Amino acid sequence: FTTPPGSPAASPAKLDSPGGGSAPATPRGTKKGSKKSDDATTRVRVFVRVRPAVRKNELEAAEGDKGSTSAIHCQGSKLWLLEDASGGGEGTKTEKKGGTRQFVFDGSLPPDSQQEEVYRLAVEETDVVSAVLEGINGCVMCYGQTGAGKTHTLGNVNKGSEGVVWRALSQILGNANGNTTVSLSYVQIYMEQIYDLLDPQANVDLREDPKEGVVLTGAMSEPLTDIEQAVNVIETANRNRVTSATAMNDSSSRSHSVLLLDVTTRAGAKILKGKLHLVDLAGSERVKKSEVQGQAFDEAVAINNSLTTLGRC
Ligand code: ADP
Repeated sequence: FTTPPGSPAASPAKLDSPGGGSAPATPRGTKKGSKKSDDATTRVRVFVRVRPAVRKNELEAAEGDKGSTSAIHCQGSKLWLLEDASGGGEGTKTEKKGGTRQFVFDGSLPPDSQQEEVYRLAVEETDVVSAVLEGINGCVMCYGQTGAGKTHTLGNVNKGSEGVVWRALSQILGNANGNTTVSLSYVQIYMEQIYDLLDPQANVDLREDPKEGVVLTGAMSEPLTDIEQAVNVIETANRNRVTSATAMNDSSSRSHSVLLLDVTTRAGAKILKGKLHLVDLAGSERVKKSEVQGQAFDEAVAINNSLTTLGRC
């Protein structure tokens, strides 16, 4: 989602939750005219991506199901679950339709969707990245259970499978000229504390500035020049994440990671400042089911609390 310039914190975005039955404001492939409309700059958009079978048990189940109808069907903005396979859709408003449950999103991406298609639909057509070059803040978040494919969708930098971070950096750096500066900060939120992944010793905090809105203070900010250098910075930071995670008896899925791109563009007498946040959220957890105790229990409580708060926002 994006926020208009001049109101980075004050303008609450309208959230149309999945299953709420809202028609997509911008149907797939019809982006024209949306760029600067209120809708494009204020509304949260929600897309669902269904991961293909990758685990051994999933592959075996898929093999056993050959010839039968898939339990999940994506078409346009809708996703259907076969009733028996849905497991109840706990906590989400759904519409029942003849033995199936129907969910409505801004777009749905079936298991064979490629990274390029995900980026085009959820990022390019919503203008969330291009708007940052025009001084409009934006954010892309991946939400889902551990193993759902968040990091693959967002953070993959392998050739041919590049995710949202790589593509957004390429788009911004590719469109930057001598008048644009781009810098990167990268933090993780673990147990309600913010840690700098570029400089683990840094003392990071969030402050509310009357002019700038909510700002991250104390975090290192690395100027970016090209995509190769940007990927190196991120990969080095990711190693910090694993190291600090081990020291804290953590794993990557126990923290939220936030990559922040600060983009400043000089346009004549005007200076346009846009921020893009790319967020890999930790997966929610049912503590009763996972039976976690001690530190892992505290982590789960912190994750669930922050996801609930995010939902309220
Ligand atoms: P999460 O970040 O949600 O915990 P990951 O992104 O680590 O999940 O994905 C779990 C596994 O599934 C990884 O091995 C990843 O490579 C694989 N995977 C996820 N999404 C896809 C996809 N769309 N196509 C192929 N493999 C995928």
